Amino acid sequence: MSWTNETVRTTYEEVLRRNPGETEFHQAVHEVFDSLDPVLDKHPEYAEHAILERICEPERQVVFRVPWVDDNGRVQINRGFRVQFNSALGPYKGGLRFHPSVLLGTVKFLGFEQVFKNALTGLPLGGGKGGSDFDPKGRSDGEIMRFCQSFMTELHRHIGEYVDVPAGDIGVGMREIGYLFGQYKRMTNRYESSVITGKGLDWGGSVMRPEATGYGTVFFTQHMLATRGRSFDGARVLVSGSGNVAHFAIEKVHQLGGIVVGCSDSAGSVYDPDGIDLELLHQVKQVERERISVYAERRPRARYIAGATVWRVAGEEDVQVALPCATQNELDTDDAKFLLDHGLWAVAEGANMPCTPEATSVFTGVDILFGPGKAVNAGGVATSGLEMQQNASRDAWTAAYTEQRLAEIMEGIHSRCAHTAEEYGRPGDYVLGANVAGFAKVAEAMLALGVI
Ligand code: NAP
Repeated sequence: MSWTNETVRTTYEEVLRRNPGETEFHQAVHEVFDSLDPVLDKHPEYAEHAILERICEPERQVVFRVPWVDDNGRVQINRGFRVQFNSALGPYKGGLRFHPSVLLGTVKFLGFEQVFKNALTGLPLGGGKGGSDFDPKGRSDGEIMRFCQSFMTELHRHIGEYVDVPAGDIGVGMREIGYLFGQYKRMTNRYESSVITGKGLDWGGSVMRPEATGYGTVFFTQHMLATRGRSFDGARVLVSGSGNVAHFAIEKVHQLGGIVVGCSDSAGSVYDPDGIDLELLHQVKQVERERISVYAERRPRARYIAGATVWRVAGEEDVQVALPCATQNELDTDDAKFLLDHGLWAVAEGANMPCTPEATSVFTGVDILFGPGKAVNAGGVATSGLEMQQNASRDAWTAAYTEQRLAEIMEGIHSRCAHTAEEYGRPGDYVLGANVAGFAKVAEAMLALGVI
């Protein structure tokens, strides 16, 4: 800890003491605090009103049992979470993650990040996150439905259009959102569309929500590249993961003339010198729910690399842009150095906290562009905000209009980060720009609302 501001230091020590063992949460707080010395020095009123201490303490944390019956008639028990972190700017908003690795600390790290990310969008959204240690892999549709119904049987007491609006995340796509929304509707007897986002088009969803995070990631990267007179046109790109964010990031890169030569899943990676065939990827990962190795088996010149992270594909040919779009801490120092040795211009975090702190330091210590997740991947929650707007006005926008709004929002986030970095004497430092711009917006609202 090299922080000079006393409040920043003592608050972090208190976070460690009060949240033992929650390493991902500590990491997320540390990463934001790294940028806050000059803000706290400039605004002593934040310390006087204990803004930092309050911002690290969730307003409410709900932990609950999720009992359900599997296809063999056995009772299964999972743990459910909803962390309502901060509602200074609007109702809590943030996704649900279903993955066996989910612990309370995971949800708190994601909720904390979400507060600042939502602030950066400029929309009236507070921050929260939820999920369960349930593993959807290998489960039948019936099991997924029964799990989602049991999860919502408890969650419905804590959410609402003006209270808390969940969405998807890892392991929670449109199928799960459908089962969750169906159970909410049944339990409350209300067709309250904007209680959850990521819905299907026929039942209150917005066009572009599936595309939003991946497209937004690429829009943000495009603006970063433009500051150096560069573009995606002709660039070789690596994208980690092959889920929702990765899929649409690849699609937009291809539309802009770049070529994505590698992507991955949790078991391994593929190198495809001809560029990832999205139709095949969709068939393998989303329709057949198969491993990505199957993609390589069906594609003539593609190669599967078992166990390796996608970043090693840069050894096959130089890549200019890296878009980590899978999960937290998936890109480490060795990966960062390897990428830098193979032609890297820019990294943009489509996932939440995918670069380890050490890898982030490697990238920010050299002259390349680095976009942090809370700014880069904010297009998803922003488009959720647009879905809420359409629900509230009983309207449905066209794809072209929605994409235009998304593009404008991403441009706004990019310029907010860039201007803030300049204001604090660190031009081009998007980490500082995102942390400070997001933090200041929430802090000002908290001051205005009093000690609550
Ligand atoms: P998803 O659809 O469940 O996809 C996750 C992908 O990452 C899967 O392909 C998964 O592979 C892969 N993966 C998991 N661990 C990996 C590892 N260690 N190495 C390589 N690949 C790995 O989830 P998603 O919605 O795309 O979310 C991805 C990230 O974006 C998360 O950090 C999420 O919080 C963040 N995010 C999502 C949204 C959104 O709108 N969805 C918005 C903002 C941020 P398997 O198939 O093997 O599991």
